[in-house]
Amino acid sequence: MPPTERREGSLDGGVAQTQVHSEQESTNMKFAIKAWCKSGRARVGLLQLKSSSSLGQGGPPAKEIEIETPALLLTTRKGLPAFISPDHLSFLPSPDSRLLQFSPMHFMEGPNSKTITNIGGVHRLLGLQGYGFVAVPRDSILFLPESYSSNKNGASFETPCGRFLVKPLEYMKMITSMKPDLWVSLADEVPASVTAKRNKTSVDRTITWLDDCISLKPRDGALFGSIVGGCSVEERQRCAQEVAKRNVSGYYIDGFGLGDSIDERSTFLHAVTDSLPKEKPRQVCGLGLPEEVLQGIAAGIDLFDSTYIYHLTLEGFALIFPLNGKCKHDVSDPQLCATAGDYTKINLKATVYRKDASRIVEGCKCYTCQNHTKAYINHLLNVHEMLAQILLEIHNTHHYLSFFRLIREAIAEGKFEEFKQKLIESRREHLLAATLSAFELVTPVR
Ligand SMILES: [Zn+2]
Repeated sequence: MPPTERREGSLDGGVAQTQVHSEQESTNMKFAIKAWCKSGRARVGLLQLKSSSSLGQGGPPAKEIEIETPALLLTTRKGLPAFISPDHLSFLPSPDSRLLQFSPMHFMEGPNSKTITNIGGVHRLLGLQGYGFVAVPRDSILFLPESYSSNKNGASFETPCGRFLVKPLEYMKMITSMKPDLWVSLADEVPASVTAKRNKTSVDRTITWLDDCISLKPRDGALFGSIVGGCSVEERQRCAQEVAKRNVSGYYIDGFGLGDSIDERSTFLHAVTDSLPKEKPRQVCGLGLPEEVLQGIAAGIDLFDSTYIYHLTLEGFALIFPLNGKCKHDVSDPQLCATAGDYTKINLKATVYRKDASRIVEGCKCYTCQNHTKAYINHLLNVHEMLAQILLEIHNTHHYLSFFRLIREAIAEGKFEEFKQKLIESRREHLLAATLSAFELVTPVR
């Protein structure tokens, strides 16, 4: 069924309001664009999912999840957000935190496909029926793709139980048993440093495997077609155009954060998004820093899949960057270098926080900031207490999801470009100050 489009014209404030309703082949997912940034490709959308775990299983009624985009998918280890147990999930903002990314390869050492089928899929396995699960054949946390391990038969993955070559048929067996709400087709991901010939092979294989996945795809779950192409505009466009011809519900832009530079990334992102239909959602992996997220949104990306928060929390960092781009800190503050922070984040392991009775961010509404001080988290980190990472993950997730909410508001109000410039300039100023402070620390004053 072709997408139906209804344009409502421009509103004051530089926002082009457009309602694009996409009726996909999957009844589980709907996506509608609510507002466009008039001067660019950024848009606000609404993603609706009807949990596929409940369809036709005789279980509890299907739960509908509505997520406004641009949105962040939470990185998980085997389906659960890192450091967060199911009883802590209620401390995260809802519904913004209800979209979970997972890798089917993480389950290779666990229950087999038949057992997961009998249990009723990944929602029932984890007891999280009210969440949207997005299956991505990639392990962003531990293993990056290599160019030589995959071959024409399938993609190679380093898993917790060893290295495996996963063929499209095996991958589809996993998807069929797990019943995710959205799933991404198998891709031949390669680092940015590969030759043009290997990059072209990567595109050819990814399209072939997409066709294999389509021919085997289950009834439930919306398919996002993988788009690769490395650091070649032509290959990125070729891949995007080929995937756009297929019967998919959305697009997964693969292969960023693998050695490409942030300066040239906009060119590749625009080459892809300009080749795709507007009415379907686009997801990207590997863009995690605040300026990378803004760069992706400016290119028309709706969903982000990154390990940024996970790595911050793991290292003991807490996000503090001002969400509105207005700097409240003195960039010449000598405390900067002592904390190993850069005003985007602070390292709570630092000694300066041992007696600090203040909150991570004054006014933050998260559980951590409402109940605990920097001094307490500093103590937990220094005695290696796991609660430190739990509290940090709650704050960092809350802070970053608030960042996404403000971006959506800025697009809807026609102020996205202003918001983006202000935040990027503020970040640049802070990073420069942090670098200079660190330099002064190691250079004797003459
Ligand atoms: Zn907080």
